[in-house]
Amino acid sequence: MDQVLDELRRGIMRQQSPFAAGVFSLQGDRLSLECNTVKSSSKPSRHGEINAIDQACRSIGKPNLSGYVLVSSAEPCPMCTATAANANVDAIVFGASRQTVAEAGYQTLQLGCVEMIRLTGQSISVIGGVQSDRCAQALLDNPHP
Ligand SMILES: [Zn+2]
Repeated sequence: MDQVLDELRRGIMRQQSPFAAGVFSLQGDRLSLECNTVKSSSKPSRHGEINAIDQACRSIGKPNLSGYVLVSSAEPCPMCTATAANANVDAIVFGASRQTVAEAGYQTLQLGCVEMIRLTGQSISVIGGVQSDRCAQALLDNPHP
């Protein structure tokens, strides 16, 4: 999560929204680390998680992240959760909750990551609240303009 928070700060310095994610092996080796690029790309799908999953798949040359974990600074939205499920990640780890995302003024959908994974029927572990204080502070210090 430390690396993800560093990437989040790099994104803020580049005038991006305060979200970042990475894909790591179960042993902790990093495959990708990306920030949200919705603003710079003018593409609403360029969430940090999507960028991280895309980059991770590019780096291994296949769209299957079995054996890898998606780590996000905030609770992944339904789009990102579905993409992680389609990529067969073993687990999703996140920091700030979607309630904190909303508190910081960013748009959130009323479907949580755990509920979304349940709907997919896949057995993907979801671990929320990891370094949640630091992740929440990064959001609340950089609210939606
Ligand atoms: Zn998302």
